[in-house]
Amino acid sequence: MSTAEALTITDQHCAENLWIIIQGKLRELYGEATYRSWLGKLNLSSCENGEICMSAPTKFIRERIINHYADTIRKLWQQEDQAIHTLTIQVASPVVEEAIQPANASSNVLVQDKSWIKGADTPTVLKNNRETFFGSLDQRYTFDNFIVGGPNELAYAAARSVADSASVQPGCNPLFLHGGVGLGKTHLMHAIAWHIYNHDPSRRVIYLSAEKFMYQFVCALRNKDILSFKEQFRSVDVLMIDDVQFICGKDSTQEEFFHTLNSLIDNRRQVVISGDRSPSDFEGMEERIRSRLGWGLVVDVHATNYELRLGILQSKTEQLGMEMDKQVLEFLASRITSNVRELEGALNKVIAHATLMNKHITLDIVQDTLQDLLRSNDRSLSIEDIQRKVAQHFDLKLSDMSSTKRSRVVAWPRQMAMYLAKMLTTKSLSDIGKCFGGKDHTTVIHAVRKVEELIKTNSEVSENVVLLKRILQG
Ligand code: ADP
Ligand code: MG
Repeated sequence: MSTAEALTITDQHCAENLWIIIQGKLRELYGEATYRSWLGKLNLSSCENGEICMSAPTKFIRERIINHYADTIRKLWQQEDQAIHTLTIQVASPVVEEAIQPANASSNVLVQDKSWIKGADTPTVLKNNRETFFGSLDQRYTFDNFIVGGPNELAYAAARSVADSASVQPGCNPLFLHGGVGLGKTHLMHAIAWHIYNHDPSRRVIYLSAEKFMYQFVCALRNKDILSFKEQFRSVDVLMIDDVQFICGKDSTQEEFFHTLNSLIDNRRQVVISGDRSPSDFEGMEERIRSRLGWGLVVDVHATNYELRLGILQSKTEQLGMEMDKQVLEFLASRITSNVRELEGALNKVIAHATLMNKHITLDIVQDTLQDLLRSNDRSLSIEDIQRKVAQHFDLKLSDMSSTKRSRVVAWPRQMAMYLAKMLTTKSLSDIGKCFGGKDHTTVIHAVRKVEELIKTNSEVSENVVLLKRILQG
């Protein structure tokens, strides 16, 4: 066991460690800018009897966090430890602020309370009952709520087959799901667990993140209780370890994980693992472990495509009972391309904004609300790219795009290109006008409105728009 690894987990540090994990999730959820302006300013003060107390440096930051993020922060704490029921955010008192030195801020203000992290302190936390096994599973992450499309078809089929079959298929053991963040790996793993729980509750399933696996392991070592640690993991029917990259390079945890894996597979128990890359790409992981991870079925959860994103948006709005213009959904699907988590986040933001303002959701509202996100998702498609592709599509010359020709053969594709420029870039109307031979912004508005109208009434136009978007966005 490397000392660095052993020392990370003392009772006091468990709290900090969890906060670090949560901070990572907040970063991912809200993006770096929001994180730095608001959430990164929070400090962990204490944790007692299921109550987490945090502090914000000013009243203003506290208000902002309470109004916008507190609920999510509380949920994230609860995901880590179900015993947590309350989150309190205070303004840091000047005395505390003075006392906190940046280097060890959180450890200074931590209340040392051993009882507060159940999972980390008691290695026997994984008992065969719903509360402990399934407590941290998200109710929404079921197969029913998972939208299947080209990029995740294979992953879905593999997960489904593991969940459905009572016996282990050697070719699928372990099942290794890999792909970028926010593409549905965790969703699929929870779905497997729910499915088994609902159809065959006698099968014993453990789902946990690799981080938690490590905490439990280190706590077991500390408590000299490694035997029961081994016992609990090796006596299950299905073991699922999420985000295995976390234990990459953590020598002793990795070693223990390898033995657990071997023992389960040899005993024909199902193992499901997720990671952010394929087993062979894990540097810092021993060759024999990498190769064992790749023995079964390795499935890539690919980045989403336009159709899948649109399908997910439709399904989410349906679930929420929201009526939303098709155009708005199409816009989101074509512009938020990074991952499903961001796509969901964008949808929620737009809905929250519109509900708050009591307004119907229009493209303008969407563009307004999501400015930052749209910019970060902008895959720097230039207006010229758009003009070139549109010209090609309609068999015109690039120069026709900035000409003053008024014949329909030229004017219509130009209007279409203006519309696409508005939809697919963050350029202002007047910037767009300039790129089309110095036209006025009202000409652009006119073009956008006209295309929007025709999309609704003319199927040839709407098909053309879909096709062009696909050409432009790959
Ligand atoms: P990962 O574990 O790959 O980082 P998650 O499973 O946490 O990603 O997915 C991020 C979010 O996107 C979750 O809220 C999940 O429900 C949602 N999601 C991802 N893929 C799909 C899909 N195909 N259908 C419905 N929701 C999805
Ligand atoms: Mg995940």
